[in-house]
Amino acid sequence: MTTEPANIDHYIHGRVRPGASGRAQRVTNPATGVVTGQVALASATEVDAAVQSAAAAFPAWSNLSPLRRARVMFKFLELLNRHRDELAHLITAEHGKVFTDAQGEVTRGIEVVEFACGIPQLLKGDYTEQVSTGIDNWTMRQPLGVVAGVTPFNFPVMVPMWMFPVAIACGNTFVLKPSPIDPSPSLRIAELFKEAGLPDGVFNVVQGDKEAVDALLEHPDVTAVSFVGSTPIANYIYETGAHHGKRVQALGGAKNHMVVMPDADIERTVDALIGAAYGSAGERCMAISVAVLVGDVADTLVPRLVERTQALKVLDGENLDAEMGPIVTRAAHERITGYIEQGVQEGATLLVDGRGFDANQAGPNCGDGYWMGGTLFDNVTPEMRIYQEEIFGPVLACVRVNDFAEAVDLVNAHEFGNGTACYTSDGNVAREFARRIQVGMVGINVPIPVPMAWHGFGGWKRSLFGDMHAYGEEGVRFYTKQKSIMQRWPQSISKGAEFAMPTSQ
Ligand code: NAD
Repeated sequence: MTTEPANIDHYIHGRVRPGASGRAQRVTNPATGVVTGQVALASATEVDAAVQSAAAAFPAWSNLSPLRRARVMFKFLELLNRHRDELAHLITAEHGKVFTDAQGEVTRGIEVVEFACGIPQLLKGDYTEQVSTGIDNWTMRQPLGVVAGVTPFNFPVMVPMWMFPVAIACGNTFVLKPSPIDPSPSLRIAELFKEAGLPDGVFNVVQGDKEAVDALLEHPDVTAVSFVGSTPIANYIYETGAHHGKRVQALGGAKNHMVVMPDADIERTVDALIGAAYGSAGERCMAISVAVLVGDVADTLVPRLVERTQALKVLDGENLDAEMGPIVTRAAHERITGYIEQGVQEGATLLVDGRGFDANQAGPNCGDGYWMGGTLFDNVTPEMRIYQEEIFGPVLACVRVNDFAEAVDLVNAHEFGNGTACYTSDGNVAREFARRIQVGMVGINVPIPVPMAWHGFGGWKRSLFGDMHAYGEEGVRFYTKQKSIMQRWPQSISKGAEFAMPTSQ
C-alpha cells in the first residue's frame, strides 16, 4: 500500500498555513528512499506574513514580566518531555539518524529550554549606587524585536532550540526557517509551544529555501538573524545580514581533529573515535573527521580502528541495535562517494571502503535508501582535499605526526576551528592543548565537547561569523541590547549649567 506524501506547511500566527507560493520540495525517508512529504517553499510574501505576525505579537510579549514568560517555558518544557520520543521518531523518519541518537538530540535541545526557564535571573541588570553624589547608574537588557533563525538539516530539533527558547524568553518574537530536508519537527514544536500557552505570533515557522532566507535577510522588521549551516552560506548570511543592518551570528562548517597521544588509553580512544566519526553517519558539526596520531600510537590504534569500522552496525534507524543510519539524501551520498574516490586518487591509504555496502542488509525496504558503511583512510596529508574540506559523512582520515607540537600546529593551521579533542593521560599535555589550540570547543578525553546549555556553543575561525556564541549567556546577550540609565532627583541637582565633562563628585 502506498500513501500520498503529506503536505508540510508553514506555521504563522498560531496556526498551520498551507503554502501559497506554488513551490514545494519533496521530503524523503533516507532509509527507504520513499517520498513521505511535500514541503512548501515560502515566497517573500509568506515570509512577510510571518514577520508581520511576529511584529504584532512583540509589544505584548516583550512587556510581559520575565517570570510570566518563564512560566510558559516551564509548561513547554513539560510538553517537550512528554513528546520526546514522538519528536525523535519524526527526526529519524526524515533525517535517518538512529532513534537513540535522535532521543539524545531532543534531550540536548530540551536542556536549552531548561536554561531559558531561568530567564528572570539572566535578565537582571547591573546597578551602581551613588556614582556621583545623588546619582545612580544601572543597566538593563531589552529584547531586540523580531528575530529569525535559519537552521541546517542535521539537527532539526536541537539547533532550532539553540536559538528560539533563549530569544523568546528574552522577550523577542521569532521566525524559524528550518531545513527543507527535515521540516516536520519544527511544526510539531510550534504546536506544543502554543499548547504551552505561547501567544499567537511569538513563534512562527516558514518553510523554504534561499528565497525565504533572502526575504528574512532583507526584511526591515527583522532585527537579528541566527544561522547554523555550512561555511559558504554562513559567510553569505553574515555579510548580507550586516549589509541590511542586522545583528548576525552565523555558525558554519567544521573539520574536527582528535589528537591521540602515545599515552592515551587505546580501548577508550578507539571507542571515542568510532562513535564520534560514525555516529549520525558523520553528519554532525562536532563529528571527529580527522584522527591525528602522534608518534607510534598509530601502530596499535589503526588495526583496532579497521576492525571496529568493519563491524559497525549500519541499520535502519528505527532498529534499536543500529549504530549508524543512512546518509541524508542521494545528493549527499554522491558527494561523500566522490570524496572517497578523491582520497584514493590523492594517494591516501583506503583501509575500509564504505561504498560497497549492500543496502538490503540495513533492513527490509531499505534497498532504495541512501546507504553506505564507514570509511577509514590512513596516511592522509594536509595537501589532500579530503583533509582540507568538510566531507560531512562517515569518513575518518588518519594523519600521522611525530610529536605534540606538530599536532597542535596542524590543528591550528586548519581553516575551521569548531571542535577538537585530545586523548592523553598526561595532565600537562592536556592543559597545554586546551591553552594553545585555536578552536572554540575543546574536549580532553571527551570526543564531542558540545557545551552545556549555560556555557554557549561556538567555533572559531571560519566555523563562526559574528561575535556571540549560541545559547548560554552569550545567547542572552545576542538577543538583547543593553541600555544604561543614570538617574538623579531634584534635591541632588546643583544649580547652573555644566560645561565641563561631568566627573564623580
Ligand atoms: P546548508 O548551509 O546547506 O543549509 C543551512 C540552511 O541554509 C538551511 O536552512 C538552508 O535551507 C539554507 N540555505 C541553503 N543554501 C542557501 C543559500 N544559498 N542562501 C540562503 N540560505 C541557504 O547546511 P546543511 O547542509 O543543512 O547542514 C550541514 C552544514 O551545517 C555542515 O556544514 C555542518 O558543519 C553545519 N553545521 C554547523 C553547526 C555549527 O554549530 N557550527 C551545527 C550544525 C551544522
